[in-house]
Amino acid sequence: MAIRVIEDKCNGCGLCAKSCPQMAIQVDNKQAIIDLDLCNYCSSCVSACRFRAIVMEVDKQATEDLTKYSGVWVYGEQFRSEIAPVVLELINVGRELADARKSELAVVVLGDKLDNAAAMLSEYPIDKVYLYEAPELEHYEGERYGRVLSDIVREMKPEILLAGATTTGRSFMSRVAIQLYTGLTADCTGLAIGEEDGLLYQTRPAYGGNVMATILCPYTRPQMSTVRHKVFPTSPKSGNGHKAEIVRLTAKPQLFGSRTQILDFIEQMESTVNIVDADVIVSGGRGIQDPVNFAMIEELAKALGGAVGASRAAVDAGWIPYPHQVGQTGKTVCPKLYIACGISGAVQHLAGMSSSDTIIAINKDPDAPIFQVANFGLVGDCLEIVPMLTRKIAAMRGQS
Ligand SMILES: Cc1cc2nc3c(=O)[nH]c(=O)nc-3n(C[C@H](O)[C@H](O)[C@H](O)COP(=O)(O)OP(=O)(O)OC[C@H]3O[C@@H](n4cnc5c(N)ncnc54)[C@H](O)[C@@H]3O)c2cc1C
Repeated sequence: MAIRVIEDKCNGCGLCAKSCPQMAIQVDNKQAIIDLDLCNYCSSCVSACRFRAIVMEVDKQATEDLTKYSGVWVYGEQFRSEIAPVVLELINVGRELADARKSELAVVVLGDKLDNAAAMLSEYPIDKVYLYEAPELEHYEGERYGRVLSDIVREMKPEILLAGATTTGRSFMSRVAIQLYTGLTADCTGLAIGEEDGLLYQTRPAYGGNVMATILCPYTRPQMSTVRHKVFPTSPKSGNGHKAEIVRLTAKPQLFGSRTQILDFIEQMESTVNIVDADVIVSGGRGIQDPVNFAMIEELAKALGGAVGASRAAVDAGWIPYPHQVGQTGKTVCPKLYIACGISGAVQHLAGMSSSDTIIAINKDPDAPIFQVANFGLVGDCLEIVPMLTRKIAAMRGQS
């Protein structure tokens, strides 16, 4: 890949420099100059230039020796040194992929004060845990984290890089993929190594779950995927006295520049909001008819020890905050039990919940599309059915 400034067309206006997320462009003597060591070929400057003075040429074949890349890496998402549950699932599938490639499995963790994370991870069947610690990395911040992980990957060249399809994983990995100019398959539900070609076969639902697409990344490295939570089982601990090697990487403060400043960190207030980790989710849609009726959804969720979800219609109406939204523009969930109350089952909602183990739909319209994905359907008024269910379940569980 190549990028260059056409001198005759450039008048040094500086629009390109302002658009560059890498701060890789300087204007000198009315000419834009691109620092190719910093440029990640994101092409922001090409679009920003009104004079078509910057051109980028893209090669369609691999331009570097892909055999230099080896090993499977998992991004060890953490919060205050607590590793996210999806990471243990990625270790499980990552181990299989690494064994199939006869290579190492490593987890890379970015943050500050990561001793707890390192101690916990070392007990799993991983070869190495890479720790990159700095006070500036205490909280996730996309631009800074993206630059750091891209730098590590450029230097150490893993063949495969996996991350959870969490809110952080989705925003972070897309930045990293752009900086490394490689492909990223988001939201995977299946990963396997091709027997013939050794490539990573990345499968994900497409078109709202109507087809399963298998995607390859043959010409660039690493092959990158974000993976849905609860698709793969959690890895068991090594259990044979094996301890992963802990490798502390040297922080490079010059990578910590960012256009974003974290002013304050506000903790999530409601513990029930984390629908992604919940085994049981009871969701309400427009069919519950009034925001006060979310109380009955909450009661059913409480009786089942679950969390409360919602359709976008309910969120858009201001009935419940956005962190509860399930679907294409909300969260992707995969609980053991999903109960949809007064939700029609639009394709955008199904995209976020159709991989749940068991789906129960309560809807007064027998033709509602939600019944096509439901294992059990109750046709009727959810305002009557939900409280009845809650009473019955609470009685069976001996709750008051
Ligand atoms: C780009 C894009 C992204 C989107 N992202 C999402 C997303 O992430 N998540 C999401 O949910 N939607 C999303 N949507 C919106 C989606 O298309 C639907 O509009 C939305 O899911 C509808 O929500 P709903 O089922 O609650 O409401 P409705 O479609 O209005 O359905 C209400 C249902 O309740 C039933 N009902 C009514 N009264 C009762 C009663 N008393 N008892 C039982 N049933 C009753 C009705 O029969 C009906 O089926 C997106 C749309 C677009 C265009």
